[in-house]
Amino acid sequence: MINFQHTLKKPVKAFGIGLHSGEKISLKINPSSANTGICFVRSDLSPEQVIPARTDYVVDTRFATTIGTERGSVSTIEHLMAALFGAGVNNALIEIDGPEVPAMDGSAAPFLTLLQKAGLKAQDEPIRYIKIMEPIMVKRGDKSLSIEPSKNFVVSFEIAFEHPLIAKQRFVDKITPQTFACQISKARTFGFLSEVELLRENGFARGGSLENAVVVGDTSIYNSGGLRFSDEFVRHKVLDLIGDLYLLGAPILGKVKAVKSGHALHHVLTQELLNRPYAWEYVEHDRTWAIPSWVGQKDDVISAAIPA
Ligand SMILES: [Zn+2]
Repeated sequence: MINFQHTLKKPVKAFGIGLHSGEKISLKINPSSANTGICFVRSDLSPEQVIPARTDYVVDTRFATTIGTERGSVSTIEHLMAALFGAGVNNALIEIDGPEVPAMDGSAAPFLTLLQKAGLKAQDEPIRYIKIMEPIMVKRGDKSLSIEPSKNFVVSFEIAFEHPLIAKQRFVDKITPQTFACQISKARTFGFLSEVELLRENGFARGGSLENAVVVGDTSIYNSGGLRFSDEFVRHKVLDLIGDLYLLGAPILGKVKAVKSGHALHHVLTQELLNRPYAWEYVEHDRTWAIPSWVGQKDDVISAAIPA
């Protein structure tokens, strides 16, 4: 049985602030034609700028993944990209009226809920998967990222922070709609209180708050509800990895092993893959992929809490 591409049944909207820019931004996720992939449009620029969510368009990987052309960019796309992957959306046109995807709660769960509310529409073209044929590894210092053949999409991630509240964490699982929705999508981005000032001086984390990030102090987590998972940090790293890998423009059949990796190394791996066409091939695959029903939301518009 062939798996067909999917887009949304109807447009949905989100509103919130950018984690790094601090700007109030709204976006609208629209259905789009088969084989067009995920594209962003900067609707606030004249003329409107279309930026395909593809590896070739990545222009910055410091603290977030930014895609752009010489005329405009969109940053912090990774959580929305992960949600689109997790929901099984192959084609969508995302209109955005500012330079950064809203942070929402710092995870992919609000976007996944929104996509489920929109519903999926099957299209008449098959999904092409990237089947890994030969292993590839990239390294930078003590960080490494590799991909090897596997009949499923499997992610293994290890982090090690010299901080007692994080220390060493490891996640490994086959990524299915269920594991993505229940184990990964709700994990929030995180930051260290000791680094916030320096980040802000350099133009990052200006919209960051306890509403959209786990804030790690020297001895405690500042968020009143604590963590969503005891190993929320490594789960969020898996979320980032899934979102960044979706810039390949197709789901992967392969096992990804990450050690202390981040946006920059994720990007290096996707470039390596595209540079080595003998290491993978496009295949059709009989995997079924549907959003589990645990997510339920009544509105077509979601908005995050905006500090006054
Ligand atoms: Zn993230």
